[in-house]
Amino acid sequence: MSIKEIRGIARDTLTFILEVSKSTAPNEFAGLLRAENGVITEVVVLPGTESSEVSAVMHLFMMPTISIAGSVHSHPTPNVRPSRHDLALFARTGNCHIIAGFPYDERSWRCYTVNGSRKNLPVLDVDFEDV
Ligand code: ZN
Repeated sequence: MSIKEIRGIARDTLTFILEVSKSTAPNEFAGLLRAENGVITEVVVLPGTESSEVSAVMHLFMMPTISIAGSVHSHPTPNVRPSRHDLALFARTGNCHIIAGFPYDERSWRCYTVNGSRKNLPVLDVDFEDV
């Protein structure tokens, strides 16, 4: 399984992430990011993510191997820095990890590498037919 370098996220996918984060708040939501041709286009929402981040990690352990670019989850506050649990989650999946914080707008999310460093993730206007 080779993970291509991620060059961005589809605008529609980011909008979906922010809307789900908003509707789930104050609970957290978590999912996996799937990419096609280096562009994140799909979110696989993990079951049982209304509970703590620890249980989200445990669900991740139980998932069959699928091609994933990274992870996404929400925070109920504007603090979008990765927690210790987040870094453990990051280490299990790819190299592109989105945290969406309150108020879940275009400026209240960040992307991180597996090590928790900031990662630039361009938002791309893609035609899904072309991906
Ligand atoms: Zn977190």
